Amino acid sequence: MNYTIPITKVEQSKIDALDFDNIPLGTTFTDHMFICDYENGAWVNPRIIPMGMIPTHPAAMALHYGQAIFEGMKAYKDTQGEPMLFRPEQNAKRLNTSADRMGMPNFPEDLFVEGLKELVSLEHNWIPPQQGSALYLRPFMYADEPFIGMRAATSYKFIIMASPAGPFFSKRIKLWAEKQFIRAAHGGTGEAKAAGNYAAAIRPTELAKAKGYDQVLWLDAHEHKYIQEVGTMNIFFKINGEFITPELDGSVLHGITRASVIDLLRSMGYKVTEQKITLDQIREASNKGTLEEAFGTGTAVGIAYIQEIGLEGETIHVSDESPVGLKVNDTLNAIKTGQIEDTFGWMLKTRKELA
Ligand SMILES: *Cc1c(COP(=O)(O)O)cnc(C)c1O
Repeated sequence: MNYTIPITKVEQSKIDALDFDNIPLGTTFTDHMFICDYENGAWVNPRIIPMGMIPTHPAAMALHYGQAIFEGMKAYKDTQGEPMLFRPEQNAKRLNTSADRMGMPNFPEDLFVEGLKELVSLEHNWIPPQQGSALYLRPFMYADEPFIGMRAATSYKFIIMASPAGPFFSKRIKLWAEKQFIRAAHGGTGEAKAAGNYAAAIRPTELAKAKGYDQVLWLDAHEHKYIQEVGTMNIFFKINGEFITPELDGSVLHGITRASVIDLLRSMGYKVTEQKITLDQIREASNKGTLEEAFGTGTAVGIAYIQEIGLEGETIHVSDESPVGLKVNDTLNAIKTGQIEDTFGWMLKTRKELA
């Protein structure tokens, strides 16, 4: 479908106030946002307007019943300075998978991509030029109907915000294997990128940090035995020259970085198997010396190398180096910034309207 997305521009851009060499994390937003309303069973009035406050009724259902979902992705500049999106249609699809689980309406996938392209091309000056930097994009949907009662809302907003992000340096992390709290249970909302999943992870993450760890290693809800994810990343292990990652069993978020890393590793000649992985299996590999690498994958950080896994009274040593993880990270970044050929067809150009 062809959409017209009217643009109301700000009178004065805030971009001059931004020091691109010191971008504060998550607090700077570009001049504009994309917004669309769901009313009477249809998405109407897609538009780009100045970034600003949205009046919210205190009874807005998202605030009470948690119908709120989001996506996270980044726009990069290629070697010609052209803004590029990484697999945006995958985010569009996943948003609707989340919407289905949370009883929310689907958002047209072509309008999702069109809105991103329009916003990114309007805000292309906000994409930081530094190597490793990007424009973080946050599409999200929430119920804004003022109503007290248990049912799906009838009105929603879909919004895309953009926030410049400084270079992220992959670092080595230590994980706390969590046996008391869980992230996702069978039949729950683990596969949805739902706001509530994050709310439930905040306290366990704080406790893990207080013990000196960087992230929580989430285990299955039933036996606390099977590995699901790390923090807000998917997880890979290299054992005896082969990679394994937890299978998508309904409790694991379908990471787009995860899917891309599987493709990249296979293209590099590695065997990658999606399977159930127990903490015992990882401990055994570590003891035998066959555990070669482990890393988390996600849009925000790319790849985070795992050094050790801590649990009550025990530390499982993973590895001090992650050569394959590093190579995958470099390759992924080179594809995203057009430094090597995009043989997978992952990158999408946004229209370029150089101001
Ligand atoms: C978003 C997210 C990921 C990573 O997904 P990407 O598409 O790779 O950014 C992994 N786990 C959880 C729980 C997430 O919310």
